[in-house]
Amino acid sequence: MLGKIVIANRGEIALRILRACRELGIKAVAVHSEADRDLKHVRLSDESVCIGPAASRDSYLNIPAIISAAEVTDAVAIHPGYGFLSENADFAEKVNQSGFIFIGPRPETIRLMGDKVSAIETMKKAGIPCLPGSDGPLTEDYDASLKIARRVGFPIIIKAAGGGGGRGMRVVHSEANLHSAITLTRSEAASAFGNDSVYIEKFLENPRHIEFQVIADTHGNVIHLGERDCSTQRRHQKVIEEAPAPGITETQRHEMGERCVRACREIGYLGAGTFEFLFQDGEFYFIEMNTRVQVEHPVTEMVTGFDIVKEQLRIAAGEPLSLRQEDIVMRGHAIECRINAEDPVTFMPSPGLIEQFHMPGGPGIRVETHIYNGYRVPPYYDSMIGKLIAHGETRLGAIARMRTALHEMVVGGIKCNIPLLLDIVNDKAFEAGGQNIHYLEQKLGLKP
Ligand code: ADP
Repeated sequence: MLGKIVIANRGEIALRILRACRELGIKAVAVHSEADRDLKHVRLSDESVCIGPAASRDSYLNIPAIISAAEVTDAVAIHPGYGFLSENADFAEKVNQSGFIFIGPRPETIRLMGDKVSAIETMKKAGIPCLPGSDGPLTEDYDASLKIARRVGFPIIIKAAGGGGGRGMRVVHSEANLHSAITLTRSEAASAFGNDSVYIEKFLENPRHIEFQVIADTHGNVIHLGERDCSTQRRHQKVIEEAPAPGITETQRHEMGERCVRACREIGYLGAGTFEFLFQDGEFYFIEMNTRVQVEHPVTEMVTGFDIVKEQLRIAAGEPLSLRQEDIVMRGHAIECRINAEDPVTFMPSPGLIEQFHMPGGPGIRVETHIYNGYRVPPYYDSMIGKLIAHGETRLGAIARMRTALHEMVVGGIKCNIPLLLDIVNDKAFEAGGQNIHYLEQKLGLKP
């Protein structure tokens, strides 16, 4: 097993990784910014190193500082978590060049999948269904782009090849808006992602977001852990996720899961990863691959009993996968709510002192959070302060437990989105299941 690792992240995922280290007897080094000395995992880790000021670019995105922390603490590997440097191929490469194990796929895989254009191209070749589109980046030739758009058929979506986090996308309903949409998306992409490459994809009107979890070891073994439905979104950002996806049959799961596994074999995938699809009229269309552990990984863990983070650590240590495909059995249903420090109506971030905190509990309830009584949520980072996961024998059973848990949970001193989450899990349409990606924004009156 790995002797000691650096956890290059913060918040709930850093704590999640620390817990996995503890179970496996791995020592853990917490690296943190000056604003994060009081993080729970920093206090609980074996060692901690301050890597810079509060601003992410000076700390959690500071590659030399993170690698130095691994050097001075004699760590052997670095776990990037999600966000920050987790999908940065240059970081993975530098980690490897400095003699450490990057807990994730090979740098070249991250690079290939990090560019959505090359990812789509690769997936098409590997037999994964994709949406009609520009089959490559748009050129400066507007007439050529117009031709592509006509062939694909309006509405289309212009997407930044380097986009992420729900940003760098623009829907175009008619030819009249095409030129300005391309220009705008291009310039936004250049400033936000340092890459002005954009492409065209068919815009689906009423899709669901369904994704498949895969995991691969260094011995050529690859398995899938089924799918998650992440259609409850606001501004293309996930709010609630669940596993399995309502209405997906065992045959569909098996077929898509197997296709993802085959694609992983073809690209030499290593570690945990997610194939994201849009699902409409019974068909799946690949949109992107995330080459890291995802925020919503616990719902898959709850229904499969498979510990994805522990497995990431084992794989990094060179061990073979602990289970075979036929050992993976899905039991019951799991739902995850993202708890954000924000106003439940205006969505304005609400950092500050947590004056009261009561954790919910009971059968089937799992809480992943780094907050505690007296913890001050800093204003510098993502507003997610935790995740509440409910597992039940059935989907309705899981929803019932989620309602109870949301009622029980108290976060005082700051505003948080629990009232909104309660509103959703009490909604008849949510209860029916299988809503598309517009459901939440329509419910909130933000969309017709
Ligand atoms: P990001 O990398 O920013 O998360 P994705 O490509 O994964 O971007 O897309 C995020 C969300 O945007 C999807 O879950 C879906 O809601 C919406 N979306 C993306 N592509 C399309 C499309 N072609 N048609 C309709 N909706 C889309």
